[in-house]
Order: sequence, then structure tokens, then C-alpha cells
Amino acid sequence: MIKGLNRLSTLKSLLVDRENIKGLCVGCLSSTSVNGLCCSCEADLPVNRWHCHCCALPLAFSGADLLCGDCLTSPPPFDRSLIPWRYQYPVDSMISRYKYNGQRKFARPLVTGFSDYLQSAFEGCSDAKPDILIPSPMLPARRRKRGFNQARDIAESLGQALSIPVDAGVVRRIRKVQSQRGLSREARLANLRGVFKVCAAVPERVAIVDDVVTTGATMRLLASALREAGAQEIQVWALARTPG
Ligand SMILES: [Zn+2]
Ligand SMILES: [Zn+2]
Repeated sequence: MIKGLNRLSTLKSLLVDRENIKGLCVGCLSSTSVNGLCCSCEADLPVNRWHCHCCALPLAFSGADLLCGDCLTSPPPFDRSLIPWRYQYPVDSMISRYKYNGQRKFARPLVTGFSDYLQSAFEGCSDAKPDILIPSPMLPARRRKRGFNQARDIAESLGQALSIPVDAGVVRRIRKVQSQRGLSREARLANLRGVFKVCAAVPERVAIVDDVVTTGATMRLLASALREAGAQEIQVWALARTPG
């Protein structure tokens, strides 16, 4: 059971980072972990079981090919989202530790689980696999400050596991956006216009990779830019989706 990630956060982070206990579960420090999580902590991860067929927004009920209100009224420019978890405890804490503290150990179990999830999604239909993975781009200044782009990091691990090339040079983020908080959906889209620039040829089938999808507005914008540049089939891959 994952209990200490918040309460013992600093201590736990330090312990997990110590060379001599590498390989322990990042949730409970049990020594029975595989890829950084023990079976019991792995079972605690919030699986995104019921979700919108297109944007993976968590839904409260199940159903084949169900779409959320947004996707029904305004179909997004991407075809499918593959997002295995909900952005809730402990996945949110694990991603924050990885992203803001640079502790890759917290991302490792998620990326490994995501890779298994994708392998089963494409089992028996390798045609559905994208030609390339495109990490969601970051502004260079932000990347320098953080030291890495987590989307690129995740894309490279997945690309290696699934034998799909990663191209981080296809699209660039060229300007900052103001905070999206409190803006209407229309205002958010206007705020995001002109943020991305496609700089190279885009193959037919692509997957955009990110750590978390929140409103979906950024993904819509990025997918539009790629579609305008020639992408025919666009998937969105992320570790987690916010509940809405
Ligand atoms: Zn554990
Ligand atoms: Zn949707």
C-alpha cells in the first residue's frame, strides 16, 4: 500500500535516491519491487479504466466507444488517446517528484507500466503503431531551467521499448502562454494560437507524447499543427489524465 509519499516525502525521496537502497519500492520501500514498485503499490495506482474513447477523459461509467461532451460537440484533431492512469494520488506525486525534482526513479515504474500497456494495445495490430513519436515540446528557457524535457525523456524510453523512432525536432514551441487558469475554453484556445511551429516533414502516423494531459487544449493545438503539416493519424500518449 502506498502511504508515505506525502507524509514522509522528503525523507522518502532521500532514501529512494540513496545508492545503497536502489531497487526498493518507491511507494513503501519494500524490497520486493519490480521496476521500482511492489505488487501492492502497483495495485494502488489509479487506473483510467472508464474514459472517453477519443481524449481519455476519465468518466464515471463504462461503455464501448463512449465520447465525452467536449469530443462530441467539438471533435479534436487527434484520433485516439492512450493514457493508462488518472492524475490522482499517488501518480500525481510520483510525476511531480520526477518532473520538478528530477528524480527519475519515481517515473520508472510508470514508464515501464505504460510501455506494457501500449504493447498490449498494439498486440495483433501493429498497423496501428505510429511511425514516429513526437515529444510535446517545451520552451528552450524552461528546458534549460528544468534540465530536461520530461516528454522527451518518456518518449525515448517508450520508443526504445516499442522500436519506434523519436523525433524531437519536428515541432517547436515558439512562445510562452499566459496561465490558462480561469479562462473559458475559447479564450484558452486563443491564448494557445501560434505557440507551436512545425519545422520538418511529418509522417502519416504520429503519436504526441507527454507526461500529463490536463485540459486537452495544448494537445488539440499541437495535433492541429501536425495535421496541417500532413499527419493523417494522430495519437496522444501520456502517463496520466486529469479528471476534468
Ligand atoms: Zn510498495
Ligand atoms: Zn473526450
